[in-house]
Amino acid sequence: MEKTLCHYHPAQPATWRCAPCQRHFGDCCVPLNADAQDDYPRCALCNGQLEFLGAANTAQPFWERIPKFFAYALQPGPLAVSAMLALASLFMPPSVLLWFVLFSVATKYFYSVIEACSQAVTEAPSLVSAFSGDGFSLFFKQLVVFVLAFVALWLAADFDSEALYWAVTLGLLLVLPASIIRLALDKTLGAALSPDEIGQVIKAMGWRYLVLCAFLFILWQSPGWVTYMLASGLPKVVLMPVAAFLFGYFSVVMCAMMGYAVFQYQGALGYVVDDEEGRAAFPEAEYLRRRALAEAEIRVKEGQGCQALETLKTALTRTPEDIRLNERFHQLLFGLNERQRCLHHLHHYLPLAARSDPALAATALLNARQLQADFLPDDALVCERVAAALLDRHKTREALSLLRNLHQRFPGYPHIPRAYLLAARGFAENLGQIEPARQLLAFIRARYPQSPLIDEVATMEATLERLARV
Ligand SMILES: [Zn+2]
Ligand SMILES: [Zn+2]
Repeated sequence: MEKTLCHYHPAQPATWRCAPCQRHFGDCCVPLNADAQDDYPRCALCNGQLEFLGAANTAQPFWERIPKFFAYALQPGPLAVSAMLALASLFMPPSVLLWFVLFSVATKYFYSVIEACSQAVTEAPSLVSAFSGDGFSLFFKQLVVFVLAFVALWLAADFDSEALYWAVTLGLLLVLPASIIRLALDKTLGAALSPDEIGQVIKAMGWRYLVLCAFLFILWQSPGWVTYMLASGLPKVVLMPVAAFLFGYFSVVMCAMMGYAVFQYQGALGYVVDDEEGRAAFPEAEYLRRRALAEAEIRVKEGQGCQALETLKTALTRTPEDIRLNERFHQLLFGLNERQRCLHHLHHYLPLAARSDPALAATALLNARQLQADFLPDDALVCERVAAALLDRHKTREALSLLRNLHQRFPGYPHIPRAYLLAARGFAENLGQIEPARQLLAFIRARYPQSPLIDEVATMEATLERLARV
């Protein structure tokens, strides 16, 4: 199964779907409301309820989580089950019935691990849970599967063809994990033996199923190898419980891996679960803001600019000072060539941006100049701040045009010396024009001799003097 991605953000995995609109959405496009957790999110296009896809597209591949499976089996529950097997190998009388009981308890436990992991439960089932509830018959059902597998092998061996024998062995090894997964999920022998149901598991995982089989095969061999390596140094009385313990431990690791593989491919297997961590949800105000931004982006990408404007306008009536919303609104008006609305909005947006993000204000002013060549903000401080941002971007002429005749346009503005010092720098440093810079400095000196900036004026005059001589 390939990952499904957000229709609007091809780098983001899809977590929601609108069937009527035939659109997939990632978390990027569907913010959640922390103050109304039970509300199902709605489609930004048709306002219908979105369908949750679970974590199928966001889940980490199982082969990247190998250490986590080993850690999983170190929890109290799995360790207790392994210890129980070790103790039984030492002390249990050789009664077939007792061993059947023990194996049916252990099998039930292993299958509960597959089930828990397929639902992304990080805590392993407890030992006690292996003795209660139903599911003891799983062992016998599994036994039937194994017996049938052996019968197949035995028949294959009868044909006197080595190739056939190995083909059947390999086939069984490849089919068994899927059959075990089916038994763990459906708990019926029919499902564990049905080629359809087993095929569905294999098909859902595709070639990654082979990766799973390879890992399981290695894990299956591991307790045997460890026991073999210990065999030379240890007496049998120690070796038996060690082997039984390792069998229990590695079985849990294998089951955790199979369970997680099911979790990862849940979508293709036809059911939906979410990560335990849960998804990020935002307080009401932040949620509304994010939702408006996401919806506007979706509308724009669908070519529905007017609806995007409406969405942002509604959001702006709630939070008129929000810089992101205003910036999106401005860019959209500009992009849609809504000249009058854009110029009107600039009266509100430009002072806001000049206050909180001058770089955005510089962009807005350049946009405004394209709509109206002689556009000027009607506030002196805004002019000064935007001019500084424009100078930083080497838009010197635009910057200087904002500062031109500032003392006539805004006679009451107290920061004329500071603004003209800025303009003098623009002339001298960006344009290399020393004469107009000198005139501006002379103007400050003549008109505002008490200004605290007079020292800076003097320093700059000296610099310009030196430059003029060169
Ligand atoms: Zn998205
Ligand atoms: Zn829809």
